[in-house]
Amino acid sequence: MTDSLNDWAFETAAVQTGIERGLGASIGFPIHAAAAFQFETLEQAQQEFIDGAGLSYARIQNPTVKLLEDRVTALEGGAATLALCTGQAATLTAVMSVCRAGDHVVATSSLFGGSTGLLNNILPLMGIEATLVPNTPDAVRGALRENTRLVWAEMISNPAGDIADIEAFAQIAHEHGALLGIDNTCGGVGFLCRPLQFGADIVAQSLTKWAGGHGNVMGGSVTIGTRHDLTRNPIYTDGGDQSLLSVRGEQALAWRQRWFGASQLGMTLAPHSAFLLAHGLETLSLRLARECQTALGLARWLDDHPKVGRVSYSGLPGHPHHHLAQKYLKHGSGAVLTFEVDNPSDFIRRVNVLRVAPNLGDVRTLIVHPWTTTHGRIPEPARLAAGVTPNTIRMSVGVEALEDLQADIEQAL
Ligand SMILES: *Cc1c(COP(=O)(O)O)cnc(C)c1O
Repeated sequence: MTDSLNDWAFETAAVQTGIERGLGASIGFPIHAAAAFQFETLEQAQQEFIDGAGLSYARIQNPTVKLLEDRVTALEGGAATLALCTGQAATLTAVMSVCRAGDHVVATSSLFGGSTGLLNNILPLMGIEATLVPNTPDAVRGALRENTRLVWAEMISNPAGDIADIEAFAQIAHEHGALLGIDNTCGGVGFLCRPLQFGADIVAQSLTKWAGGHGNVMGGSVTIGTRHDLTRNPIYTDGGDQSLLSVRGEQALAWRQRWFGASQLGMTLAPHSAFLLAHGLETLSLRLARECQTALGLARWLDDHPKVGRVSYSGLPGHPHHHLAQKYLKHGSGAVLTFEVDNPSDFIRRVNVLRVAPNLGDVRTLIVHPWTTTHGRIPEPARLAAGVTPNTIRMSVGVEALEDLQADIEQAL
């Protein structure tokens, strides 16, 4: 848990959180390259192994990783964060913090390919079933089962740019005694949207994208708020006065996440990676604000271009979720858009400024052909449901000048 940092604006919290004050204190923060931390007494060590709240072994916690966690908590307006080695690790940990064998997840189908893979292929190995439904409150409500513990959606879906109607999803999940988890990767660590403020219970994200920002490091995080109700989830209530809820109280969800993702599975973030990610957060607001502006400019221009098919960007009035973007997003509709070209293979061969690489949130503009790459291994109907066609190009807009990007796309078309 952090103290009262959450009332700082995003831009302030991003650069101030975790920087000490005092004579000789560094303007910066160290990398704690340490696997273990010392105790002075047997009793201290014994207590730490019961509480797990402090420092003992770096698979579980490290001060550099904690600084990153505190920053993400402040930026998302949450109560606690667990940082992990990838976004995939974060998604898995978020799901497993409220599900066990026999449980069920309802997820909207406009998902990142890796998330679809986890839900369809990995969760069943653990006896957990997922139903993927269209990205609407009615579809989510209709798929709930008695054993549904989690509703899952992407704040801004990758790649189609669908916007989750979080308030409606939260209400549906909570009435059912389930939690709402949101993948906020494309929401820029709370810069475009803080899902916890609209009723989400868990926010997971890939920090590889806009937090890192320079395509040079991987990470993920799970952040929780304070309001989640676990009293109808047997994982937390089984065992009477020895139940997780009785023993851990308000910390129960955070405790189980760290126990699962870090302590037991060891999907721990390295301190060197945490250092890079915490640095990336310092300039995220500048980068993403600029990228949103450029993305909107490109989306409008592409939308009018005779050689370009459907453009999908929730900043355009024609996007089916434009009204949700206006309700939930600040600063713009994000840096990712898709557009259709007649011959993706030729287009990709001809670009000179755009780079062809499967990442998002880089300072450089990156494109991919999702049909054959990021979404290539998921069934065709699911690909189409995620807004991916054989002609779709996904673009993650970087910080280059709009006119250079435009000129490059023009010649490639
Ligand atoms: C990239 C991504 C992930 C997975 O994150 P990794 O850091 O690559 O493991 C999850 N969700 C979304 C929306 C993503 O774009």
